[in-house]
Amino acid sequence: MSEPCAARGSARIGIFGGTFNPIHQGHLRSAEEVAEALELDRVLFIPSARPPHKDATEVEVIAPARERLAWVEQAVSDNPRFEVDTVEVERSGPSYLVDTLRAIGASCAPELPVFIVGHDAFVEIGSWREPETLFTLAHFAVTTRPPVERGSLGDWLPECVRGEIQVAEDGRSARHRRAGTWIRLVEITALAVSASDIRTRIREGYSVRYLLPDKVREAVLASGCYAARPPLGQPAREKVK
Ligand code: ATP
Repeated sequence: MSEPCAARGSARIGIFGGTFNPIHQGHLRSAEEVAEALELDRVLFIPSARPPHKDATEVEVIAPARERLAWVEQAVSDNPRFEVDTVEVERSGPSYLVDTLRAIGASCAPELPVFIVGHDAFVEIGSWREPETLFTLAHFAVTTRPPVERGSLGDWLPECVRGEIQVAEDGRSARHRRAGTWIRLVEITALAVSASDIRTRIREGYSVRYLLPDKVREAVLASGCYAARPPLGQPAREKVK
């Protein structure tokens, strides 16, 4: 487990939350480019224990938290700026971002963390727990993700916070009127990699080489988490590489 923010002085901390089911190059590249663009000292990867926003069918293919955590640890191990935080896997119940920001924020004070989120997830924030509060607890770095959508942060903000947040004319940055927190759109290299595509490839016996770090790929395949279950009485399919 990583040390609390307080032990890191007044470092500028990025938070990258996700199911990481499994972690892949799209996640890693996104964190790297945001850290560079916003001069973050550290990025904390926070795997969720039980993502509240994934639907019931997806829940069936969510690998155990301990496996996903181990893959994230493996994936970030050679990057001195990246760390893993286990706050969500250690907490019981669903993983609500608002709880995580409260926990991390308290130990980062007076600095506020920067929450890194892909555009696809950002447009869903209105359905997360306490969306109004989220925008007061952290700054937001919203990254582009294929298929890249052109538009303004103003269009993507949840209805409930639109009155509170002033969007710049170019639509690429915004500021919370009361909290002073900011939102920035960060354009990153578009990598059309997704965890669901990786799971499908594994289930169907296709290669996932180069979509995720090699060591993680080996561990994911060895775990058998996403492998197709053979019908009773039939031998398991040959392993993909
Ligand atoms: P799934 O395909 O199962 O929905 P995912 O690949 O979207 O998974 P998550 O763990 O749900 O991965 O995503 C965590 C965060 O990473 C989200 O903010 C998401 O927008 C972002 N993200 C995921 N893939 C990419 C990518 N290829 N490029 C940029 N951001 C990404």
